[in-house]
Amino acid sequence: MPATGSKSLGRLVAGFWVFNFILGALLLAAWVLSSKISIREFFISPTATLTATQSPSVTLTSSPTLTPSLSSTPTATRTPTTTLTPTQTATQTPSPIPFSDGPIVIGYSVENRPLEVFRFGTGPIGRMIIAGMHGGSEYNTIQLADLLIAYLQAHPEIVPANVTLYILRDLNPDGEARAHSPAGRANANGVDLNRNWDANWQKDWPRDYCWILTPVNGGSAAMSEPETRALSAFIEGHPSINALINYHSAALGIFAGGLPPDNYSIRLAKAVAAVTTYPYPPINTGCDYTGGFTDWANERGIAALDVELADHVHTDYDMNLKALVILLNFKR
Ligand SMILES: [Zn+2]
Repeated sequence: MPATGSKSLGRLVAGFWVFNFILGALLLAAWVLSSKISIREFFISPTATLTATQSPSVTLTSSPTLTPSLSSTPTATRTPTTTLTPTQTATQTPSPIPFSDGPIVIGYSVENRPLEVFRFGTGPIGRMIIAGMHGGSEYNTIQLADLLIAYLQAHPEIVPANVTLYILRDLNPDGEARAHSPAGRANANGVDLNRNWDANWQKDWPRDYCWILTPVNGGSAAMSEPETRALSAFIEGHPSINALINYHSAALGIFAGGLPPDNYSIRLAKAVAAVTTYPYPPINTGCDYTGGFTDWANERGIAALDVELADHVHTDYDMNLKALVILLNFKR
């Protein structure tokens, strides 16, 4: 019986555990269903859960890194870009100025023709050549200026590093357009542009020994003409200009500017005479020159020459290349 009794007890115990197991399984199933936790989530290993948590966290870690780097990259790049633009403009400002420039229009004639200046070099010492002041009657001075401009464009090395040269090729384009003869001397107002300057200016003057081939006058007042005012404004706007040559024709030689000429003008005149056949002192016709440009320029401290080509036809190119070198290298 104890055997029978113990067998019955054993079955009872086994039945109890089987019942408990089934009940537990049912309760577990009911809890899983009610809490809507997926079997996969429930049974997934903590490692798998961590991996799942890590992979978003990896994505998150890298994406915040990317996001700030992306959002800061444009900000950092674009803010400097706008900062760089002025910086680049600032670096462009000190960047080398081109060796030459022109034509630069510095004003207009009575008939609205442009007055053109060409620049060569970038140095602090200014030099200038002015041609065509008497228009078509001295057309060869304009041709000479054009030849010198072409030479300088091909041979920039002749301009010293400390020099800037300006060439005004034709101060009287209206006279040049009118005639390549004495009739082309005055501007469109009938004014002699070398008698219009505020230096011993007179509206009229005794014609003895002076120009009588065409009627000209000194203007309604000193500096009355737009050509005169444009050139004076350019020179006063470029105070670095301390020596210049004003070309005319023909035959009289080299006039040193100034009333009387200063030592700088005289020294420059002698230096140009030494490399040309133009005489200094010039031939004295006895004319009393009034309102002259080089006298006006010399009153402003500029060594100024009125250089007369040998005739009304030739440019005397070779001689005037030497005169150009003298002007460029003149030491004050
Ligand atoms: Zn002249």
